[in-house]
Amino acid sequence: GRGLPKPDNTRYFTISNQKGGVGKTTTTVNVAAALAQAGLNVLVVDIDPQGNASTALGIEHHSEIDSIYDVLINDLPLQDVVAPCPDLEHLVVAPATIDLAGAEIELVSLVAREQRLRRALDQYSKYRDDQGMERLDYVFIDCPPSLGLLTVNAFVAAREVLIPIQCEYYALEGLSQLLKNIEMIQKHLNADLVVSTILLTMYDGRTNLAAQVAQEVRDHFPHEVLEAVIPRSVRISEAPSYQQSVITYDRSSTGALSYMEASTEIADRGVAEK
Ligand code: ADP
Ligand code: MG
Repeated sequence: GRGLPKPDNTRYFTISNQKGGVGKTTTTVNVAAALAQAGLNVLVVDIDPQGNASTALGIEHHSEIDSIYDVLINDLPLQDVVAPCPDLEHLVVAPATIDLAGAEIELVSLVAREQRLRRALDQYSKYRDDQGMERLDYVFIDCPPSLGLLTVNAFVAAREVLIPIQCEYYALEGLSQLLKNIEMIQKHLNADLVVSTILLTMYDGRTNLAAQVAQEVRDHFPHEVLEAVIPRSVRISEAPSYQQSVITYDRSSTGALSYMEASTEIADRGVAEK
């Protein structure tokens, strides 16, 4: 490992942004992989019915497989669906299957419908304890782009929100809606939730616009935005088709290095004070 500090307690992140295609899944997969490669114990929970994070980490998620759907809807224990990532010893994944698309509606009529993921995660951490397994250092929840009950479950289960932002013209506009939703969650469901981390992604250093937007985001969120910036990189975008993170696919690429830097910052900064 590269000697990243272990957190005192498990850190729970949800990767959120109500826009699609801004790099949520890519960030989940690569930050998780970078931390796991450094020897930290990491769980990725895929709650996007598309299952892109499961794919990118080499985890089977066809419709016959028990998945996070069964955990949320049928009370299956998380340990029954968690699978090891084939490329990284310290990384495990709770996969999403396509039946999760129906879960938004099925959840509505269930008891404690907003708390189901949190309960499953609490139960899983007790299970690991009982089994004498090492404690998880990081949990990352990869969300769908909508604010439905799946995303609400992630906001309730998490302590920290990591927002990936693509440096384009409307970046800040979309953000204000997201922050309003987070405030609502803080008020009604999870007072401990904090936007701890903002990561600038798909940065194109050749354009003035990207630099301007990046500066604007930094001005608004001086404490949250990471120094590390993720560049637009072909290696990052092609890694998932090999069912790999860019960390294992091409570890010396600029894309991999930038995600390692971002992960080091996250680990070094520690959990955000509320
Ligand atoms: P989201 O989960 O927010 O919908 P993704 O992480 O799936 O977004 O990213 C959307 C698309 O952009 C994917 O095809 C992904 O491979 C690509 N992509 C993400 N980050 C980068 C990057 N830094 N450079 C190049 N392509 C990227
Ligand atoms: Mg995604």
